[in-house]
Amino acid sequence: MLVIICIKQVPDTTQVKIDPVTGNLVREGVPFIMNPFDTHALEEGIRLKERYGFRVVVISMGPPNTEVTLRKALARGVDEAVLLSDRAFGGADTLATSKVLAEAIIQLTQREEVAIVLCGKQTIDGDTAQVGPGIATRLGYSQLTLVDHIKDIDLQAQKVIARRKLEGREEIVKADLPAMISVVREINTPRYPTVPLRLMAEGATITIWGNKEMKLDDASIGLQGSATQVRKIFSPERAKGEILGDGITNPEEAASLLIKELKRKGLLFI
Ligand SMILES: Cc1cc2nc3c(=O)[nH]c(=O)nc-3n(C[C@H](O)[C@H](O)[C@H](O)COP(=O)(O)OP(=O)(O)OC[C@H]3O[C@@H](n4cnc5c(N)ncnc54)[C@H](O)[C@@H]3O)c2cc1C
Repeated sequence: MLVIICIKQVPDTTQVKIDPVTGNLVREGVPFIMNPFDTHALEEGIRLKERYGFRVVVISMGPPNTEVTLRKALARGVDEAVLLSDRAFGGADTLATSKVLAEAIIQLTQREEVAIVLCGKQTIDGDTAQVGPGIATRLGYSQLTLVDHIKDIDLQAQKVIARRKLEGREEIVKADLPAMISVVREINTPRYPTVPLRLMAEGATITIWGNKEMKLDDASIGLQGSATQVRKIFSPERAKGEILGDGITNPEEAASLLIKELKRKGLLFI
């Protein structure tokens, strides 16, 4: 049985710049990284392989240079990597992205039964957390989001039990397989790649599927298949900071001045 992990290559946001003219992200020269939440999805996939003997396949939709990120996944012990890359996939929103990923999963299912699809909670660029649920909805899979612990997978009963991390509380849920599980950072600590696996990953073959292989209707993918378009990306203007009581060294005095000012601004009601 298969575990499929969806990973996205994203710009290293600590270095992202926005083109003042087009309002688009400047991607040239920006280093790319594996989406941080996906490093935890990857680690969880490897752990499920070790616990249940699953075969693990990693898939990613992205430009040709996404191979670099897929090799990082191979260096951590996944069995196969599939890159979904075609100009026709470009400009996709979450609807069109989940279409391509779901189709790739359908094609992999024709080879081997799928038990679990793992995704990260969200990406650090689009940040919508919509793709995982989109995949599950398209495939009719159970969907468990915000998971911080996969307690048990019963292949006999075709059930999974997992814990979801909600605000201020946890939830233990049981669902039918196959299931899409999106994970939070707290689920695990990703391992480092071993030297033998890194060497193997450098020479490994990465399967590349374009739309010739996927045969999707052009109207359902890329810009054409997108219900939303990002019109403009911009940094929100930040209110200018204000220095209060310049030169005051006495903490009580500073505190009472701050309280007075917050009250004056209607930000403190005591
Ligand atoms: C700044 C910015 C804002 C955007 N805003 C929107 C928007 O409001 N609406 C919209 O529809 N699109 C938006 N997009 C486009 C969106 O980024 C893409 O559609 C993208 O492919 C998926 O959405 P996401 O990044 O929000 O992913 P999320 O839904 O946050 O990703 C969740 C998980 O899905 C998996 N996943 C996501 N993308 C891929 C992939 N390409 N390959 C493999 N696995 C993947 C990963 O496991 C990931 O952790 C935006 C893009 C940018 C850069």
